[in-house]
Amino acid sequence: MESCSEVVRKFWGYDELRPLQAEAMQAVVAGRDSLVVLPTGGGKSLCFQAPALCLPGVAVVVSPLISLMKDQVDALVDRGVLAALVNSTLSADERRRVADELRGERVKLLYLSPERLMSERMLHFLQQLQVSFFAIDEAHCISQWGHDFRPEYRMLSVLKESFPHAAIHAYTATATAQVRSEIVRELRLNNPETLVGSFDRPNLVYRASPRVDGFQQICEVIDRHRDESGIVYCIRRADVDALCAKLTAAGHSAAAYHAGMDEAARHASQEAFANEAVKIVVATVAFGMGIDKSNVRYVIHAAAPKSLENYQQESGRAGRDGLEAECCMFYSAADFLTWRKLQQGLPQEALEASIALLAGMERYCSTTDCRHRTIARYFGQDLADGACGACDVCLADVEYVAEPLVLAQKILSCVARLQENYGAGYVGLVLSGSRDQRIMELGHDQLSTYGLLAEHDRRHIRGWIEQLAAQDYLQKVGEYTVLKLTPAGWQVLRGEVVPRLLKPAGRPRREARTAIESWEGVDRELFEELRLLRRRKAEEQGLPPFVVFSDVTLRDLARRRPSTPEAMLAVHGVGQAKCARYGEEFVGAIVEYCRRCDVALDVSPAAAAPRIVEAIDERPATASKLRAWELFTQKVSLDDVCGALDRAPSTVVGYLVEYIERQKIGDPEPWLDRAMFERVRTAAVVAKSGRLKPLFDALEGAVPYDRIRIAVAVLRNLSSPGTTRAD
Ligand code: ADP
Ligand code: ZN
Repeated sequence: MESCSEVVRKFWGYDELRPLQAEAMQAVVAGRDSLVVLPTGGGKSLCFQAPALCLPGVAVVVSPLISLMKDQVDALVDRGVLAALVNSTLSADERRRVADELRGERVKLLYLSPERLMSERMLHFLQQLQVSFFAIDEAHCISQWGHDFRPEYRMLSVLKESFPHAAIHAYTATATAQVRSEIVRELRLNNPETLVGSFDRPNLVYRASPRVDGFQQICEVIDRHRDESGIVYCIRRADVDALCAKLTAAGHSAAAYHAGMDEAARHASQEAFANEAVKIVVATVAFGMGIDKSNVRYVIHAAAPKSLENYQQESGRAGRDGLEAECCMFYSAADFLTWRKLQQGLPQEALEASIALLAGMERYCSTTDCRHRTIARYFGQDLADGACGACDVCLADVEYVAEPLVLAQKILSCVARLQENYGAGYVGLVLSGSRDQRIMELGHDQLSTYGLLAEHDRRHIRGWIEQLAAQDYLQKVGEYTVLKLTPAGWQVLRGEVVPRLLKPAGRPRREARTAIESWEGVDRELFEELRLLRRRKAEEQGLPPFVVFSDVTLRDLARRRPSTPEAMLAVHGVGQAKCARYGEEFVGAIVEYCRRCDVALDVSPAAAAPRIVEAIDERPATASKLRAWELFTQKVSLDDVCGALDRAPSTVVGYLVEYIERQKIGDPEPWLDRAMFERVRTAAVVAKSGRLKPLFDALEGAVPYDRIRIAVAVLRNLSSPGTTRAD
């Protein structure tokens, strides 16, 4: 028999094991019962799949969902592993074939649902074979304390009696001690080896911010991940439908998933997501177990979930392949009200428990500590000190405002002056000194707090109001979520307590450490070409793309650029079966690309330094920039675009200049009047320069810098061919 590490290299192409995988495999090989708790993406499957190939007989895997089973078996077969499943979707013929293969000892892993396994017939059949061990996946389903109790799992309690000599191994991502002991008791595990992994997921970047203009915030995250797969979670079904429609209307490729849809529609959404026919799934918590897709690159929570357990699990669906992935949450005090409302009917005890869970979630939202550490602590684990480099707090996306007390007092006194009768949006407008019609009509421009924060960005003001609400200085009441001061809010007004207020940092967003590392040496253009090839191969075989090759493998291919199938075996995740099946075509594509683009082949990892690309900045445009461009196309004036986007004029002029450059616009109107444009044009001729400072000086300061920037962009277009002229 081969050793586990040989098997892992040969079939999976992995050189290293993840934490606790070796120990878990050891327990299986030794035939000792075990309980393995690893977070989602920790690599639980390999812990039983690899040993199954090293032991005589067939390993029986119990799994709760038919869809999950099929994906796992397909993936194994594609790696050259002898795996099979029996469930209700098989025809009588297919079932007979599997039975024959089992008798002929041509199956190493057999996947079954608990009820199928515990049926009289199946037990009898299996007793005539050599069963190496039982692996119980998602073992927390047996626990009534778990969040996913399945009564059919209880049938497994008698498994030990039926097979006293076969070891039982249980796998779960649910960590609480109560659930763990229930698994051990119910499965009658005999002195099990218990392995509990770290709950931290270092490859995930966590971010959480108050929801201000939710849709735009969501679009900004999606824009950072163009062409990548992501999940957006909402609280209610109606929110899912609305958001999905809005994303689709904005040109995104999205599908909905919630329990109100019929089975077929849900299945279609899930399939489309797995096959990358759609990029985004918008879903309620119902979209969960059974998503095996390893290359989900981001998970957005459009609203706060109801517990940190939920958050950990849902956000954990990102980056299961170990590559960097982003988890962003946009919360609001309204979310917590919604959850309380939804939980109203619960029996007293359950209600108290859920209120406590919600409170934990709220603390996570407004924490000013590292988010990785906050999550780990919640699960009773501690992380080493030092910046994690992978959360908004440690990456310093945000910073504290200099005088939080004064700022908070201005906001709270405005709420008081408005008789605690208005919502956050309106209070924000009054503070910013908006000339909104309603404000004028109601005479609120006469209030002493009117325009008190006029020098600040309107989005920041809204953010601060949400932060004050999240910290309980303000309360949102009633149908119109009118702002009221809480007792703690009055303490702030009296200067007795000082709230924490954050604002986005002025410096540009730093890239997370994990992202920089995992793209090191990867030729991105080649990566994109290989991704298309992977998609085509997947379609041909009716497999999801990530089953053909994971993103990790694809990046390693684009990093090492093997010129022969043999060299390809050194690539992460390429075992012998994959190499035989896909080697020629992928190597062909790589060699062709490298010739065409003059890029080196067969790079060893040490030498795989990043290629220096003299590229223009091709970062995806942000949502607000795209919106601005749309408005420019409609010739909307600068002031109106500033108003519509709630952005500073300098930002909007930046967008405009870029728009003029990209679209080769040759007409400065309506953003610059003709006379002013002609003055700049003349000055440019006289000064023999297109640079801003000399022009500004030549015009003796009569034309502001912003206008000169616009004029110069247009002038540059007029002097180059291919420009759309107005005249
Ligand atoms: P879990 O069931 O714990 O959520 P999986 O078993 O689905 O996690 O594994 C997640 C991903 O990690 C899969 O794509 C799997 O192939 C990959 N993986 C598992 N072990 C390793 C390893 N040692 N090295 C590299 N990738 C691994
Ligand atoms: Zn951190």
